[in-house]
Amino acid sequence: MDVTTRGIVLKATDYKENDKLILLYSVEYGKITVHAKGVRKGTAKLKFAADQFCFGLYELSKAEDRFTLKTCDQLESFYSLREDVAVYYAACTVAECLADYTEEGQSEPDVFVETLKALTALSDGTEPMTVTLRYLLGFTALEGLGLQFDRCAVCGEKNRKMFLDLQRGGIVCEGCRTAESLAVTPRTLAVCKMVETMPYDKLKNLNFTLEVLKDALQLCYRYISHSFSPLKSLGELLIL
Ligand SMILES: [Zn+2]
Repeated sequence: MDVTTRGIVLKATDYKENDKLILLYSVEYGKITVHAKGVRKGTAKLKFAADQFCFGLYELSKAEDRFTLKTCDQLESFYSLREDVAVYYAACTVAECLADYTEEGQSEPDVFVETLKALTALSDGTEPMTVTLRYLLGFTALEGLGLQFDRCAVCGEKNRKMFLDLQRGGIVCEGCRTAESLAVTPRTLAVCKMVETMPYDKLKNLNFTLEVLKDALQLCYRYISHSFSPLKSLGELLIL
């Protein structure tokens, strides 16, 4: 059976002599693995369809749960995401979230839209750490794991002195903290609260210092690494 879906290449690995296995994030099927035959040959017309971050209309043949690339109509190459190191690690963080934290074959159109907006903002030159922060907050919220920044996750109290408590999975107040809780500055909480629902095209107007952004991303990094596995690309972005 032939199927058509819009998809974004998260990564591609060499397979057999001339092939690649593409990890594609698609609207209709969520994350899927696509066998792209012959795309490593010098003359391959569909070479571009396996490039990381390629966004295209993919025509695939589907046999049970196996997908094979037939053709691809490129909608956006997102080539510019590979031209700057900070932008690249930001885009890789987005791809890694989808590759590592979403279920194979489970369609999540909201996550797809969120991803496309983030990659578009990055390719339009919006500050990469700001886009990464917005994406991580949006992604965790869509996955039902969003943090609350203005009140304690345990008792609901609003307080200026708050802590990240990984055991309790949220931001907690002084009274509900445990010995392992990590202090979070009011400024970091305010930045996260401001960014979490801001439209991607408005992020350009923000002008946070690197230190402020890194503190907020560090909070996300700790939280996500505890809930899932560590995001390697975000670790790289944070040490740039
Ligand atoms: Zn509390």
